[in-house]
Amino acid sequence: MNLHEYQAKDLLRRYGVAVPQGAVAATPQEAVAVAQNLGGALWVVKAQVHAGGRGKAGGVQLVRNLAALRAAAARMLGRNLVTQQTGSTGLPVERVYVESGSDIEREIYLSLTLNRERGRIAVIASSAGGMDIEEVAHQTPEKIIAVAVHPAAGLQPYQCRELAFALQLAGKQLGEFQDLAMALYRLYIENDASLLEINPLILTRAGALLALDAKINIDANALFRHPELAALRDANQEDPLERRASENELNYVSLDGDIACMVNGAGLAMATMDLIQLHGGRPANFLDVGGGATAERVAVAFEIIFSNPKVRAVLINIFGGIVRCDIIAQGVVQAVKSVGVKLPVVVRLEGTNAAEARAILAASGLAITPAEDLTDAARKVIALAKQAHA
Ligand code: GDP
Ligand code: MN
Repeated sequence: MNLHEYQAKDLLRRYGVAVPQGAVAATPQEAVAVAQNLGGALWVVKAQVHAGGRGKAGGVQLVRNLAALRAAAARMLGRNLVTQQTGSTGLPVERVYVESGSDIEREIYLSLTLNRERGRIAVIASSAGGMDIEEVAHQTPEKIIAVAVHPAAGLQPYQCRELAFALQLAGKQLGEFQDLAMALYRLYIENDASLLEINPLILTRAGALLALDAKINIDANALFRHPELAALRDANQEDPLERRASENELNYVSLDGDIACMVNGAGLAMATMDLIQLHGGRPANFLDVGGGATAERVAVAFEIIFSNPKVRAVLINIFGGIVRCDIIAQGVVQAVKSVGVKLPVVVRLEGTNAAEARAILAASGLAITPAEDLTDAARKVIALAKQAHA
């Protein structure tokens, strides 16, 4: 689960990490009031969306008077912000964060995330922080360094110094950086984060370290331990299809292709996507309808996959281990009738009561293409999707 920047900065403050003064606002008037409270003569207005790349998309504005601040807030609020990370419809801006402007000497990149290969938390840093970090990672990966934290020992002072030296910090900044890195590590562990990214961490002209941006993801499987974090969820920032799926205990992730998949079991769903890809097709989604798939859930699953306008054909791949294939077949027939499916549907059912299931599909009178096995299913659905495009 993603946190908004303003929520992440609240959390950082609680761990003693220096962040600029600021507060969130839902209207231009509120934004002006926040700035008046802060005082000073330079403010930053920042669109609150669950995506980075705001700076390059007009979602971060430096302003020097209250009229400009009001105008910046009015431009952002109530619209969708499209950034490199959002997809073409963007994400709704319902709040802006207003903070005191900072004098930037240098922008540093600092993040913590889990290195799954090593099974350790990695602390990643670069002296080339800021809005082009993706470019840096791509073109000059040597400018990015990382240390791996031993789970029992925790982040060690020598590791902090190694990072600080690589960042060309010196003098009292070394100790400051160590305190900062240790605080971030504690925050990461205690809140079951999966990503904590400060980009940029700035060195101010006065020589202080300040977290100018903050991105925190919390491991959704650990949210039951953190009701106060779970309450920060902003469902309006989430993909509406993925949300509807999770409300129905369906595991759905939308993708870029045109072949919708409906599969029971995450492993089989992955294998199905691989096969589609192998035979030259592109999956439109990952969808695991789960072991206890009922006719009703199959119907909801159909609605969800058809809400994606890119879909040209559907592949249903069910292995009846716990579920019975005939129940699924009934669900498919019901759903195809009630949703009024106009796209080609290829079905591969195997396992318990597979023969009964095939009979149900054949007797339904619907244009459902049966498949013999997984390869046959993949080939058929790809051919049908191509025809639909032609
Ligand atoms: P992102 O583009 O979504 O990652 O948004 P950030 O919060 O990282 O802001 C983007 C960029 O805006 C930063 O890299 C800075 O260069 C600039 N920026 C943000 N806040 C300030 C500020 O207080 N003063 C100055 N001078 N620049 C800022
Ligand atoms: Mn940033």
